[in-house]
Amino acid sequence: MSIAAVHHPGYTIDLPASHPFPMAKFRVLRNQLGQHKGPITWHQPSMATSEQLQRVHTRAYLDALTGGHLDRAAQRRSGFPWSAALIERVRLETGGTLLTARLALDQGLALNAAGGTHHAHADFASGYCLLNDLAVTAKTLLETGEVGRLLIIDLDVHQGDGTARLLADEPAAFTFSMHVARNFPARKADSDWDLPLASGLDDAAYLGTLTGVLPRLIDDCDPDLVIYDAGVDVHHADRLGHCELSNAGLYERDRRVIEAVRSRGIPLAGVIGGGYDRDLEALCQRHAQLFHAALHTQEESA
Ligand SMILES: [Zn+2]
Repeated sequence: MSIAAVHHPGYTIDLPASHPFPMAKFRVLRNQLGQHKGPITWHQPSMATSEQLQRVHTRAYLDALTGGHLDRAAQRRSGFPWSAALIERVRLETGGTLLTARLALDQGLALNAAGGTHHAHADFASGYCLLNDLAVTAKTLLETGEVGRLLIIDLDVHQGDGTARLLADEPAAFTFSMHVARNFPARKADSDWDLPLASGLDDAAYLGTLTGVLPRLIDDCDPDLVIYDAGVDVHHADRLGHCELSNAGLYERDRRVIEAVRSRGIPLAGVIGGGYDRDLEALCQRHAQLFHAALHTQEESA
């Protein structure tokens, strides 16, 4: 038994060495997982199409992205200097999350070794997020009728503000965000359920809170699919998080989410989300734990 995972070499592009975003993490993670002895079946996505992207983004914004017409302020807000490779990268990543969701619907569980660009809005980029892969995937699956109802569990340490706004008028997509309140963005959106946390929570406090809400969240929503944003910026060594999880705590978080969803027979599509440690090997070991937790859960249920 193996798990389905999604990666594309185009997930990593060249950036100036001084750039704060750890762009090489997608390549390093893929390499780390390639050495893992657990059985992972890799799939390569194609780029999200204009039709898919237009389900959540405005045509004017998409034209500016693809045509390279973003002004300097918009580029600064995105966090990246514009390049054609960057646009290809984010379209691949969005296509990757959609493919991951479809693999999950088919096989029960699948993971994108990227994704979780939850700060992207309808007509502007923000916080390293240009296209909202979660909202594009949700809208696409609902419009095609592949799912009737879905739940997004966003445990990245930052609020999924873009996702919340893009899906605010979509009753068939339920958005849940558990994040540290003092973090970016300063102005929060309204998810269907927000669970803002105090700064500095340790493993026990964090996991206690999560475990207290997971059953009700999943049972009340009763979705056909869960999309799980497993951002690792809740780790104590992360630069941006104000949260104090250990590696073991992170693993336990992922395991509990996967177990809670899969034990109810609901398909789960996971994305890796944020993580900003400059130590790429350590960072990718944290992201890799999502895959290890998935493999472990699947072995146990086999
Ligand atoms: Zn984050």
